[in-house]
Amino acid sequence: MTEIPKSHPRYASLVARERVAEGVRKGLTSSQGLIAQGRGECFDYLLGERTTPSAAAATQAAAAMLLLADRPALSVNGNVAALVPEEMVALACALAAPLEVNLFHRSEERVKRIADLLRDYGAERVIGENPDATIPGLDHARALATRGGIYDADVVLIPLEDGDRCEALVAMGKKVIAIDLNPLSRTARRATVSIVDNILRAAPNLTAQAKQLSSMRHENLERIVQEYDNESMLHRAVQEMMTHLQGQFQDYHSAPKD
Ligand code: ATP
Repeated sequence: MTEIPKSHPRYASLVARERVAEGVRKGLTSSQGLIAQGRGECFDYLLGERTTPSAAAATQAAAAMLLLADRPALSVNGNVAALVPEEMVALACALAAPLEVNLFHRSEERVKRIADLLRDYGAERVIGENPDATIPGLDHARALATRGGIYDADVVLIPLEDGDRCEALVAMGKKVIAIDLNPLSRTARRATVSIVDNILRAAPNLTAQAKQLSSMRHENLERIVQEYDNESMLHRAVQEMMTHLQGQFQDYHSAPKD
């Protein structure tokens, strides 16, 4: 990977870009994944590249929902595998949940590479290589799912997912948790809980929350979930972006000109 100096003001963003490019070179990520990364970077820039209060609240609700689940499942695609493989394994371990490789542009070779990578990081249950069910309402390749994983899960985490699949999972009656930097995407608007944050920050934050809430009584976890309102959280995320941008704009205009 290209060496990026830690002093660079956009260090984290450039490292992420390098990881996705490396994911393409290693055959983990499709070339379309580079475009998804670019879109994500743009929204992260608008957010100020930080976990906002609304994202922290959504992360807490997501952790509570996953802890209450009877059959949670975590979806991993090519961008997720390139960016946070180790962090997804840590999350799966904290929740005792399976990781299911689930690709938009599916190839058996890429599924196997990603599954092997997750196993190399110590994942205990990785599925998706032998799908045995289909999600209704999607065309064949995109509908593939696995029993014991996403297909019969009650709560599914779908980081960086497309809107159609999110909608189809919600239509199956599942609770769906999205991680998506775009608060206006169909995925973010259709999901039950949308974490508007970079997966680089959201995945470790979610694991930390799951560990922190793991000893909480069920009725308290249920209260967190009941009090959560996704629509107003997305509204807050948009407000946070606008406030950040106004601040940037004012700083720019008040800075001394050469
Ligand atoms: P939708 O169908 O939901 O409207 P889309 O077509 O806009 O989605 P896709 O290309 O299918 O988007 O999925 C990529 C999504 O993932 C985008 O919304 C993008 O902002 C988001 N994204 C990309 N990189 C990251 C990241 N590192 N962390 C979180 N979200 C990301």
